[in-house]
Amino acid sequence: MTEAQTTPQTGKRVLLAKPRGYCAGVDRAVQTVEEALKLYGAPIYVRKQIVHNKHVVRTLEDQGAIFVEENEEVPEGATVIFSAHGVAPEVYEQAKVRSLKAIDATCPLVTKVHQEAKRFAAEDYDILLIGHEGHEEVVGTAGEAPAHIQLVDGPGDADKVTVRDPSKVVWLSQTTLSVDETLETVARLKARLPLLQSPPSDDICYATSNRQHVVKEIAPECDVVLVVGSRNSSNSVRLVEVALDAGARAGHLVDFAHEIDDAWLTGARTVGLTSGASVPDELVQEVLAHLAERGFTDVDEVVTANERLIFSLPQELKRDMKAAAAAATRA
Ligand code: SF4
Repeated sequence: MTEAQTTPQTGKRVLLAKPRGYCAGVDRAVQTVEEALKLYGAPIYVRKQIVHNKHVVRTLEDQGAIFVEENEEVPEGATVIFSAHGVAPEVYEQAKVRSLKAIDATCPLVTKVHQEAKRFAAEDYDILLIGHEGHEEVVGTAGEAPAHIQLVDGPGDADKVTVRDPSKVVWLSQTTLSVDETLETVARLKARLPLLQSPPSDDICYATSNRQHVVKEIAPECDVVLVVGSRNSSNSVRLVEVALDAGARAGHLVDFAHEIDDAWLTGARTVGLTSGASVPDELVQEVLAHLAERGFTDVDEVVTANERLIFSLPQELKRDMKAAAAAATRA
């Protein structure tokens, strides 16, 4: 019996998904900005949102981070951090030209996909990159081998691809996609290209898969599933879709508790609650408090996996932190 099947005591309950919220890549990226601010002092420039979450971005801005869209907005010689979503090689080149001190907070699991793209391109494969057009991660990965990569934005795009040699083609993917929709896209591609190769290991990351898995578990019991996350967060948006596909009667994405419309809760007995991989848990706790004020006082946490992965900080930052610590000891 899962915790989801326990009997509610108040008649109104919350099924709280776990895992939810921060993944190892987001935790590392946010810590990178915080440590850089401590070490070098404000301002620290960050190219693009470090992670796709309004609250995180505002909090770091308050500490002295300046978010920019492109390297040209960073003063020559200043420090710039590249976001967790990764960047194309040309972005490093631009940084060099402007003598920027670049710190790369790309999630190692995104870097892994970049390496796969480079390797297959070097072997002259056609690469079908499944992902959302315009998403920063897809732009960065595609930039590794633009001549070899075609974007496949969902199952509907599968019929449009053209390849040079059907026996030398591989699919890769964005890390934050819907697991089920990606399987559907791959099946459609394989129907046309039977020799299509799969990535050497899953590109959809553990955090994305785990958050979708637990939402699927709770969704059939939920009158409404609330996902805490920002609109531009791919994995958060996917969680709402997955909840609806898995049987939740309604699903909503909110950045903050105050965005919850009371009408969504009218008549609801069971509310599912989760959060995207870029969301600090304090925002989920605020939603729980908001729900408790409306009678949803019984909270059952449904746990389908325990995550222990931690990534170490970027080498370039660790090196400077070590040097600063050594200088402080000598002084
Ligand atoms: S969602 Fe996955 S790929 Fe993206 S930062 Fe988190 S662990 Fe890395």
